[in-house]
Amino acid sequence: MSDDSPAIREIRINPVVPSESVLVSTARGMRPRKAEDPAPRDTRKHVDRCPFCTGNETMTPPTIAAWPAEKDWRVRAVENLYPVLGDNSTASNLVFGLQQAIDGYGRHEVLVDHCEHGIALHEMSQEHVSLLIGAYQERMAALYAADPRIQYVLVFKNFGPAAGASIPHTHSQVIAMPVVPENVHNEVTNSRSYYEKHRQCIFCSLIDEALTFEAKIYDRASGAVRRQISVGQYVVERGEKFIAIKPFASRYEWEVHILPLEHRHDFLLLTPEEAEDFARVLRHTMARLDAVIGGAQYNFFLHSLPHSPEFSNCKNSYHWHLEICPRTSIPTGFELGSGLYVSTISPEDAARQLREVSL
Ligand SMILES: [Zn+2]
Ligand SMILES: [Zn+2]
Ligand SMILES: [Zn+2]
Repeated sequence: MSDDSPAIREIRINPVVPSESVLVSTARGMRPRKAEDPAPRDTRKHVDRCPFCTGNETMTPPTIAAWPAEKDWRVRAVENLYPVLGDNSTASNLVFGLQQAIDGYGRHEVLVDHCEHGIALHEMSQEHVSLLIGAYQERMAALYAADPRIQYVLVFKNFGPAAGASIPHTHSQVIAMPVVPENVHNEVTNSRSYYEKHRQCIFCSLIDEALTFEAKIYDRASGAVRRQISVGQYVVERGEKFIAIKPFASRYEWEVHILPLEHRHDFLLLTPEEAEDFARVLRHTMARLDAVIGGAQYNFFLHSLPHSPEFSNCKNSYHWHLEICPRTSIPTGFELGSGLYVSTISPEDAARQLREVSL
């Protein structure tokens, strides 16, 4: 917290998913959770016994796809050796979100993001990140096409042990699921209700607000300015076609979302030109996070309109995005029990710190 900003203590409701609220409490000593010791990052280029390193391709299940080609791969997709979902397994019921139990059929693939073992996303070349984004699109399209029972294809990445990455070699995962995950479902249905009321996409409204909003909030008793919201306060990085913003209310203190500036409902419709700008904004955002929180361990999740017919009327109301959730602390019992997350840094201050990093 910068010294001149007054302490904030308020509950902020996530405008898209109101059940995900956050208590922003920046007063010193209000830290109810334990900060995680940042584990040193594995920065080795090549590890002899790593199944994802070049030369060890026989240690993984067969390659499903490789980019640009199997022989000289730079990104490679393989079946997950320990899938959470597999073909026609009816025995295991899985729990996604809170209560949702489902039959465990679906597909689970791993994308080896880069042939270099310990490379961080912001250290990859711009061209490589574009290639990776294209690989996400290809696998997502193929999995939707392969089985009509698939309701959602989730692309996500766990980086670092704090984020649950069991294999240190940089990788992403693609899971084709027979249900829409609860948080995506909530986003889609809530934004549809918002659209029905306001004829406006709530994500587009949030982008507009991030770019243009200006307001003063006065203290009712004294009349003094309690909080001032100014232009660009939530903007972390701006590209030609994409924007990275720090949500006004978010579960994780350093959570950042990247969205297309123009309304787009489906990640699969991203053009190669747009993918380049997305790659640029993503790399810069990761570099900023890495500089501010030091060796970011994080999860990211791609949220795009599910392909099930139930949501075919949500093309104007849902806006695809990438949610980046750095893991800097362990949720406390209070947070897990109440569903109310606690942030000891204000989102405005977090955005400013990220913005101020010179790249
Ligand atoms: Zn490796
Ligand atoms: Zn929109
Ligand atoms: Zn989302």
